Amino acid sequence: MRTIDDLGDLSGKKVLLRSDLNVPLDGKKIGDDGRIRASVPTIKKLTEQGAQVIVCAHLGRPKGEPEDKYSLAPVAERLAELLGSSVEFATDTVQESAKEKVDAMKDGDVVLLENLRFNAGETSKNDAERGKFADELACLADVFVSDGFGVVHRKQASVYDVAQKLPHGAGDLVQNEVKVLERLTKDPEKPYAVVLGGAKVSDKLGVIDNLLKTADILVIGGGMVFTFLAAQGHEVGKSLLEKDQIDTVKGYLEQAQKDGVEIVLPTDVVAATEFSADADHEVVAADAIPSDRMGLDIGPESAKAFAEKVKSAKTVFWNGPMGAFEMEPYAAGTKELAGALVEATENGALTVVGGGDSAAAVRQLGFEDSDFTHISTGGGASLEYLEGKELPGLSVLES
Ligand code: ADP
Ligand code: MG
Repeated sequence: MRTIDDLGDLSGKKVLLRSDLNVPLDGKKIGDDGRIRASVPTIKKLTEQGAQVIVCAHLGRPKGEPEDKYSLAPVAERLAELLGSSVEFATDTVQESAKEKVDAMKDGDVVLLENLRFNAGETSKNDAERGKFADELACLADVFVSDGFGVVHRKQASVYDVAQKLPHGAGDLVQNEVKVLERLTKDPEKPYAVVLGGAKVSDKLGVIDNLLKTADILVIGGGMVFTFLAAQGHEVGKSLLEKDQIDTVKGYLEQAQKDGVEIVLPTDVVAATEFSADADHEVVAADAIPSDRMGLDIGPESAKAFAEKVKSAKTVFWNGPMGAFEMEPYAAGTKELAGALVEATENGALTVVGGGDSAAAVRQLGFEDSDFTHISTGGGASLEYLEGKELPGLSVLES
């Protein structure tokens, strides 16, 4: 993989830097700013070399045109605070404001361009449309640095196409993420435990196929577990369920047995009458969820069992909260699991947390980033890597 260091002396050069600044916004207020903080070291590394750094990023899912609620303006302010120096904000991405700000740059300056996805070319499926937008981005700079790990699985203009138009290299964040993923895939230290949870069931089922080849223990919680319980013939009430995936899951269960991979499912769950913190809730056996209730967390017995598996592992990858942790009554399972990862880390295990909500969960529950070996900034990207897929934003950096 080509890196920043392959780009030579960057002093006085205009560097287009793709970062991942896709943070949760409540109005104009930033929630977890983890991704902004993670972007800072590469920006500093470039400005300290005297480069002129043009940061580009997306926020949310605007539909190819400007939409105020997705403006990166609040991010520019937060980025300036974290850098301890000013950040000029261009109110468009490649038009007048961007050109004006970029022209006025001096060595060591930082400009943040407005949301890339305010331009239809960014995410277009049409190669020519993407290419045209990538040309406009490329016009602003001398070289391109790819540091938005959260988007490297996307074939998008600012991730894939622009790298073909400028000398390019991976930033430190992308390099570090890839190094960790290599450790998870190439000969991981055993026992290797993978914990999956969260809400995006079908997104995450795909990775199991490949993990059955490398992991020793697969621990399943969160919303996806109910498709597993249903596959075992249990009633899951009003819990999240993907009926069309039940057969696939049955296949995984059989495959796991053949391959000697231990699949650990909860034996108890916290079942509530509705998706609300105030709802009536109780701990029930996982094979006896009442038909009018939904499972919103793993139960205490399961949390303990999951934690034991994690603590005795030498390598742990965790993606997806164990329950609807945003609501206090359903946070205990996620908290206990996070605590087990911390203990595993202290015991010398490699522990990796992936996924935006999982990262937010561990921070919200009071853990520090340094409690784990690595908190990935890219949930989807790390899952696709572990799935064995080719990531366009990484392969384009190979040559
Ligand atoms: P990540 O961003 O870490 O990849 P996901 O986006 O897949 O994770 O899922 C996170 C969401 O899953 C959280 O908002 C959480 O409330 C929800 N969740 C976890 N367990 C359940 C459950 N049993 N039922 C409904 N939602 C759940
Ligand atoms: Mg998520």
